[in-house]
Amino acid sequence: MPTRKPSIWVIGDYRNYFQNRVTLQLLAKANDLAPQIGAEVCAVLFGQGLDEYVTEYIAHGAEKIYVVEDPVLKDYSIETYAALMQHLAQKYEPEIILVGATSFGKEFAARVAKRLGTGLTADCIGLDITEDGLLLQIAPSFGGNLIAEIITPEQRPQMATVRPGTFQETPHDNDRQGKIVREQMIKDLPEDRVRLISNEHQPERDQKIEDAAVVVCGGRGMGSKKKLKKLFDLAELMGAEVGGTRPVVYAGWLEPDALIGQAGKNIKPKILISFGISGAIQHTAATNEADFIIAVNKNPNATMMKMADVAVVADANQFCTALIKGLRERIKE
Ligand SMILES: Cc1cc2nc3c(=O)[nH]c(=O)nc-3n(C[C@H](O)[C@H](O)[C@H](O)COP(=O)(O)OP(=O)(O)OC[C@H]3O[C@@H](n4cnc5c(N)ncnc54)[C@H](O)[C@@H]3O)c2cc1C
Repeated sequence: MPTRKPSIWVIGDYRNYFQNRVTLQLLAKANDLAPQIGAEVCAVLFGQGLDEYVTEYIAHGAEKIYVVEDPVLKDYSIETYAALMQHLAQKYEPEIILVGATSFGKEFAARVAKRLGTGLTADCIGLDITEDGLLLQIAPSFGGNLIAEIITPEQRPQMATVRPGTFQETPHDNDRQGKIVREQMIKDLPEDRVRLISNEHQPERDQKIEDAAVVVCGGRGMGSKKKLKKLFDLAELMGAEVGGTRPVVYAGWLEPDALIGQAGKNIKPKILISFGISGAIQHTAATNEADFIIAVNKNPNATMMKMADVAVVADANQFCTALIKGLRERIKE
């Protein structure tokens, strides 16, 4: 009996631009890994009216796409999606399943791993293949103080969620060919215990913080929500995006999608201006790729100040105000 070719599956999370980028990044990485284990790269898509994404995922490296289209799948439901994924994974037995570590991906992957009785490494910041052909899952652990290298030697599939921005997507290639496998919706689904009452799309921002050339980032040292709001004035003057640390987001001073760090987004700006941020590893792990860092802190010994190309010992709020004033005067001249 012919044995099935091993496969690496990437879950298509296409609900908005940001999540779709993660899927494309994972397809690119899957294409790096696949030749090392003789695997094919597959995408998995659930929903309705998916043609656009089928085309996009093939153009970004999916050799095969498992597609399930059904009115029931129009709105995301964790129970339905997880049950369907379990069904497909048991039917086709992929070697590896990769999921973007978005809010959707985190809850989805955990449930699927439990259903399949396999392990899951959450929030990976690197993936590789070991000499034994296993997926090497590289992820921060112990609050980001250690980087763990994890393998799943026995259970299958090997599953990982991967932090957005970890890998680069490859350019869209219209000449690529892919096979589409249309699967039927499963019939005997358990009744959904979650009822969707309404669904609201946040308007897309023109510029994404992950792609921004200039980022101004605020920490607890900004002092208050009102004071931190000044960063938006500064950002407007500089054509920058605003990000923040976890305490600032948890305090409601910034929206959750502005969180920079292990639990948030990775950035790689040409210029990062950091205001009142201590420089904890969980934050700086996501700012390492900034070309030039200016840090403002009243404590010259703060880690962020040591990491900076220019360290300004000052009150963050006063410095921000002075910078805005200076820039406005320059613009008037
Ligand atoms: C599992 C886990 C995941 C985490 N994930 C993230 C994450 O994704 N992102 C993240 O950011 N954090 C994350 N954290 C939290 C992280 O460990 C730090 O607690 C956090 O980054 C600190 O934020 P901060 O620098 O704003 O605050 P603080 O550490 O309190 O630092 C405030 C800084 O402001 C300076 N300051 C105070 N007053 C002024 C002033 N008037 N003017 C100028 N400077 C001033 C202080 O000297 C200090 O350096 C995580 C933690 C854990 C355990």
